[in-house]
Amino acid sequence: MFKALVIEKDAAGYRAGVQQVDDSALPPGEVTVRVDYSTINYKDGLAITGKSPVVRSFPLHAGIDFAGVVEASEDARFKPGDRVVQNGWGVGESHSGGLAQKARVKADWLVPLPEALSTRQAMAIGTAGYTAMLCVLALERHGLVPGMGDVLVTGANGGVGSVAITLLAGLGHRVVASTGRTGEAAHLQALGAAEVIDRAELSAPGKPMGKERWAAVVDSVGSHTLANACAQTRYGGAVAACGLAQGLDFPASVAPFILRGITLYGIDSVMAKPSVRMPAWERLARDLDLAKLDAITTEIALGEAVQAGADILAGRVRGRLVVDVNR
Ligand code: NDP
Repeated sequence: MFKALVIEKDAAGYRAGVQQVDDSALPPGEVTVRVDYSTINYKDGLAITGKSPVVRSFPLHAGIDFAGVVEASEDARFKPGDRVVQNGWGVGESHSGGLAQKARVKADWLVPLPEALSTRQAMAIGTAGYTAMLCVLALERHGLVPGMGDVLVTGANGGVGSVAITLLAGLGHRVVASTGRTGEAAHLQALGAAEVIDRAELSAPGKPMGKERWAAVVDSVGSHTLANACAQTRYGGAVAACGLAQGLDFPASVAPFILRGITLYGIDSVMAKPSVRMPAWERLARDLDLAKLDAITTEIALGEAVQAGADILAGRVRGRLVVDVNR
């Protein structure tokens, strides 16, 4: 028997709670993992609360992410004792996930954990941090190098935002952090933000084009914020869009695209190919300041995950939440 955060939907309604389950509750897959840590991402909040229909199979163990040690493997790429990390691929949505002491997934989905990272650090990064890295990689491929100008990070106190600030500042960029929690300015500056602005500057309907401010943007917010970020991006600059914390809409004009030649990169972490994920994890292991990662990490027990799901949707979580599934 092992503990899992089980999401159920039936005549009694939609609910999530920690239960004792046995191995027969695990889905098919070649690799069984003893989970050390999982995490609460924004999408985990949607899944746990049922606020958006992200869970498509019931009953299901919640948890998009996990890091742990291989217990058994039918695939030659993994053997018992290997340390692995899992992000996305529908885990925690249509395939039972990592908010459990045990998980079973396809070998194709797992990434060997880089030596420099512990399983706890991997989950402090989680899908949010790995997505921040995918955004940075897209901007670098576009040609962004330190010294080109200010890089805007929206949703600054969130998981994606906090890791993006830490990464970009560590790489030598001048980072401007946009947040609704300006009282956290000192914390964002400690992560490396050179300047902190109120998200109200960006979140209301704006003009098709504004003053050129940003060499590049990492946006986890969407809606008017993304439209305004595009409208303020400098000639030839780029925006990496990965989130919808403000809204799914994109009320923008084509003006910055056709008059300033800006580029909008869509970032998806869920179905990203191994050839995309592995280098992202290697770069995280190399470039992320682990002391700063620790400063944005709060650890909770599995039994606290249901409340944490509601908290992240309500914007009450700062940085990243790591879940110790064994306590
Ligand atoms: P968090 O909840 O940790 O962070 C979101 C942040 O957005 C909040 O902390 C807040 O930052 C800001 N925010 C919240 N509500 C609003 C609002 N109404 N208007 C403007 N800003 C707002 O979530 P994550 O960082 O884990 O995820 C961020 C987004 O990225 C989510 O939409 C998530 O679904 C998406 N995502 C997408 C992925 C992909 O593969 N494309 C992968 C991972 C995440 P502050 O308090 O600083 O203002």
